[in-house]
Amino acid sequence: MHATDLDVVIVGGGSAGLSAALMLGRSRRRVLVVDGGAPRNRVAGHMHGVLGRDHSSPLDLLAAGRAELTRYDDVTVVSDEVASAARVDGDGPAFEVVLASGERRTTRRILVATGLTDRLPEVPGLAEQWGSGVVSCPYCDGWEVRDRRIAVIPTSAANAHQAQLLRQLSPHVVFHAAGFVLPPAARTGLSARGIELDERVVAEVVSDDDGALRGIRYEDGSEREVDAIFIAPRPQPNDAVLRELGARRMRNDGVDWVLVDDDGRTSVPGLWAAGNVVSARATVPMAMSAGNAAGAAMNGELLDEDIRVAVALAG
Ligand SMILES: Cc1cc2nc3c(=O)[nH]c(=O)nc-3n(C[C@H](O)[C@H](O)[C@H](O)COP(=O)(O)OP(=O)(O)OC[C@H]3O[C@@H](n4cnc5c(N)ncnc54)[C@H](O)[C@@H]3O)c2cc1C
Repeated sequence: MHATDLDVVIVGGGSAGLSAALMLGRSRRRVLVVDGGAPRNRVAGHMHGVLGRDHSSPLDLLAAGRAELTRYDDVTVVSDEVASAARVDGDGPAFEVVLASGERRTTRRILVATGLTDRLPEVPGLAEQWGSGVVSCPYCDGWEVRDRRIAVIPTSAANAHQAQLLRQLSPHVVFHAAGFVLPPAARTGLSARGIELDERVVAEVVSDDDGALRGIRYEDGSEREVDAIFIAPRPQPNDAVLRELGARRMRNDGVDWVLVDDDGRTSVPGLWAAGNVVSARATVPMAMSAGNAAGAAMNGELLDEDIRVAVALAG
């Protein structure tokens, strides 16, 4: 009935992609998950705020997800990358994807779940601490440094809110205000809740010989010891496949995001997206939920197409 050899190619096997594969596999859809093996939180030893998995390894979660998928005959997970995708003729929407290995597959639908890349502020020593001493999400990593010395190195005045969230966890929060015009209300709010404002210019993040975070060195040569640094990296969606296929995007906070509906449909028929590639705020449970919703909705859409084709053939 179908000219394509697959129902769905899922690009990216993180929380969103594997969740979608589970739903589609349980519906006996022919699914290929192509995964580059570099989930965004690979740098973190533990993940938090994930019910049933709090304080466990993010990589263990994905390994367990892959293992669960082996129960479903028509789901295959391969370690590779999708290099490009193009539309081809079919009964409904159809695509050809080309993997980095050179393999070509045709499919009725594509789900892009490729996550995002965190663009870190260019402070010497900061990248080395990313995921351990330097983090970004108070909900993911704040509780672990409750009552400790926390520094916020902002990229914009908007990070004042991040400092306020952290103040809920510790009385020792410092906000580095050099180089920003902080709105008076934000400044008043920070000092009203005892958040220190440091006007020194950050020059370097300093680590101990054993690799643990020591503190911050400033342009004037002075230093401050801290237990954790919070930043706001610039999100860069890994959306090459979505752009190649012409999915509509919208600029938000200086970043172009591909637009999806509640189920993950893009503006291109047959092309879907879920997780961090379309939403910076998607935590692991949110990415899983988006993948789960997309998987079910894609199956529903494929079913409608199956019925149309069957009726045409019968008639
Ligand atoms: C330091 C840090 C700590 C975090 N801690 C937490 C936490 O404690 N709790 C929490 O809920 N969230 C946490 N997060 C957020 C978490 O990483 C994301 O919610 C989650 O990774 C989003 O899942 P995803 O499936 O959308 O993308 P990802 O997990 O990033 O998976 C995307 C996958 O797609 C693959 N890929 C990319 N391009 C291609 C391609 N062309 N072809 C094939 N594969 C491709 C990648 O290799 C990757 O495996 C943290 C993030 C960071 C940076």
